[in-house]
Amino acid sequence: MKPLLALSLFCCSLFADGYVFCYHRFDDPKPKHKAMNISSEKFTEHLNYLSSNGYKMEPLSKVVANVKSKKPYREKTATITVDDAYKSFYDHAFPILKAKKIPFTLFVYVEAIKGGYKDFMTWEQIKEVAKYGEIGLHSYAHKDLTKMSPEELQKDTADSFEIFTKMTGQKPKYYAYPFGHYNKAVQAKIKSFGFESIVTVDAGAVNENSDVFSLERIAMSGNDDFKLALGVKPLDVSMEKVAIKDGQWVIKGNVQNFDKKEIKLYVNKKDKRVLELNNSSFETLIDPSKINSKQKLIFSTDDHRYRAKLIEKD
Ligand SMILES: [Zn+2]
Repeated sequence: MKPLLALSLFCCSLFADGYVFCYHRFDDPKPKHKAMNISSEKFTEHLNYLSSNGYKMEPLSKVVANVKSKKPYREKTATITVDDAYKSFYDHAFPILKAKKIPFTLFVYVEAIKGGYKDFMTWEQIKEVAKYGEIGLHSYAHKDLTKMSPEELQKDTADSFEIFTKMTGQKPKYYAYPFGHYNKAVQAKIKSFGFESIVTVDAGAVNENSDVFSLERIAMSGNDDFKLALGVKPLDVSMEKVAIKDGQWVIKGNVQNFDKKEIKLYVNKKDKRVLELNNSSFETLIDPSKINSKQKLIFSTDDHRYRAKLIEKD
């Protein structure tokens, strides 16, 4: 192999990433569900696009193993996850995934299944689906976990874990936060149940520097630009609160594998910053009174790299 060609192949493989997509409802005609819905046709288009553009379809278990291995991503991978366990998944998307032999993970909202809610699957259907894909937990009551007391959160998770295990015959290995809301206390509590991974809806691509306990997913509906989502890349940022100066937090951080002079930081709607990089390092001040109970700092670049980092009052 010519050196130049070898080098270019090496470069391309270095930039491979994983994409974990999060879908909800399929072929749902109600306008109020539009933001959560996708038609079977559009969903099939997504799957066909992935297969004809060299994306390897991997189950979430494989993504978790890839991240844990800490080996650089060598292949473009895509993973299908579906939240809530609506009946429309069973009726419309499951047959497509089954026919195409595409792996998937379904996150189950336990109270809805237990209560026989109208729009949702039954335990029998979930068990059938589990023969072809993976299933995970999506809480008992589908509430904002950051608003629960530690006791409520313990009970919600313990109840849902127990019912899920009893009704499906398998212990859940993966957890998806309702609405994607979490903070450090929530994360620690959910983690204490022994899940192998917890998934978010913090937008971004996955690579070996992702955290399996706050794994990025890209929420997808029929309205979202699928190809644009595949243009998103991971941004390898580490950061920590190092001091308090005049009541403000001093945040210091580092960006890896990035040679530009600045990155953008989104604190909230009113506070978007450009951070100067000095030998890949940055420093910035955050006013703790502007931080909410589930605050994330979102770092991004002009070439569509993203990573969200949780920050919280002590
Ligand atoms: Zn949900």
